[in-house]
Amino acid sequence: MRHVRNGLRSVGAALVALTLLAALVPPAGMPVSAQANRLRVVASFSILADVVGQIAGDAAEVETLIPLGANPHAYEPSARDVVRLSEADAVFVVGLNFEERLLDVVREASGGTVYELWGCLPVRPVMAGLDEHGDEAEHAEEAPSEIEPASTLDALCAEHEAAVRTAFGLDALAPPGAVTRADAAYFDTLAEADPHAWTDPLNVALWTLMIRDMLSAEDPANAAVYAANAEAYLAELAALHAEIAAQMAALPAERRFIVTNHLAFNYLAARYGLALVGVVIPGGGTSSEPSVQEVLALIETIRSYGVPAIFTETTVSESLAQQIADESGAALVRLYTGSLSEPGGPADTYLAYMRFNAAQIVAALQ
Ligand SMILES: [Zn+2]
Repeated sequence: MRHVRNGLRSVGAALVALTLLAALVPPAGMPVSAQANRLRVVASFSILADVVGQIAGDAAEVETLIPLGANPHAYEPSARDVVRLSEADAVFVVGLNFEERLLDVVREASGGTVYELWGCLPVRPVMAGLDEHGDEAEHAEEAPSEIEPASTLDALCAEHEAAVRTAFGLDALAPPGAVTRADAAYFDTLAEADPHAWTDPLNVALWTLMIRDMLSAEDPANAAVYAANAEAYLAELAALHAEIAAQMAALPAERRFIVTNHLAFNYLAARYGLALVGVVIPGGGTSSEPSVQEVLALIETIRSYGVPAIFTETTVSESLAQQIADESGAALVRLYTGSLSEPGGPADTYLAYMRFNAAQIVAALQ
C-alpha cells in the first residue's frame, strides 16, 4: 500500500487528488470494493497470523506463510512463498531464529517492511546444558530493531509494559528468570534466547501493542481501528491469563514438574509456576537428537521427579517421546505447539490454543 503524505503541493497535489478521485469512482459495471486497497500482511506462522489478524480486523488482509500443521523450525519456503512475500506490504516474524530456514528468505524477498516481534519481550535463555543449537547466535547478534533506534524502542517498550501491567492488573511483567531490556545481560542473552515467547499470554499482550504500532505505521488511515482492536484483544488476553492462572494455581506443588518433546513451553512454565525438568529433543529447536546418555538421564529425571506426563505435539514426531514414556511410566499427552489446528478444531485461534493446552496440562498434572 502506498500512502499519500501531507505536504504535497501544486501539481503533485492536483495529480494525487485526481488519482484519488479516479480511485473513488468505480468504472461502470464494476462492484465497489472497500477492500481493494487493503494492507496486505503476511505472518510467518498460524499463531502469529491469528494474533495479527485480531488486531487488523477487516482493515488488512492477513495470511500465514507456514501452513497449518507444519513445523516452523523445519519449514522450507516454496517458490510461491517468495512471490507472496514480494507482494506483501508488511511481513511479521517471531525472529530470534524461530523461523530457522525462513528468515533469510523473508529478509531477501519481502516487498515491504519485515517486523520482528521480540523487541519488547522479556527473554529466557534456552535451558542450560541443553543448548546444542549452534547457529542460534548468528542471527540474534544482528541489530535488535529494524524500525527504531534502541533508545526510542526502550521508551516505546516501557510504555507498552505499563499498558500491559494495567490491563492485566499486575505490578510486574517479567516472570522470574526472564531477562528484560533493562538488564545488562539482555543483548548477550538474545544470542541464546528461547523464541517460543507466545506460550505466555503476557508476551502476546506486548506483541499486540507492537503489532498495533506496526500496522498503524504501514496504514495510518486505519490507526484508530487498530488501536480499538488491540484494546479489545488485550482485554481478552487478560481474561485468558486470569483463567489459566487460576487453573494452574490449584495444582499441588509435587505435581508441577513437566517434560516436553521440544523446548516449546519454557515461557508458559515460568509464567504459571511449573518446573520444566527436561525435554526429549535437546537444544532450542527440533532438529537435534539426544544421545543414549541423555535419553537414560531423562528417564531417570522423569522417575525421580514423578513427572506424570510427557507433553508431545502435533507438528513434531513423538516416537522417541513414546519410547521414553513407555520406559519411565509417564503418560503421553499431545499439545499444539508451532501451529494452530484446522478451523473448527480445538485450537483454531491463539486463545483456543492456550485454553486447550492449559486444560490438557492441568488434567495431566492434577
Ligand atoms: Zn518450537
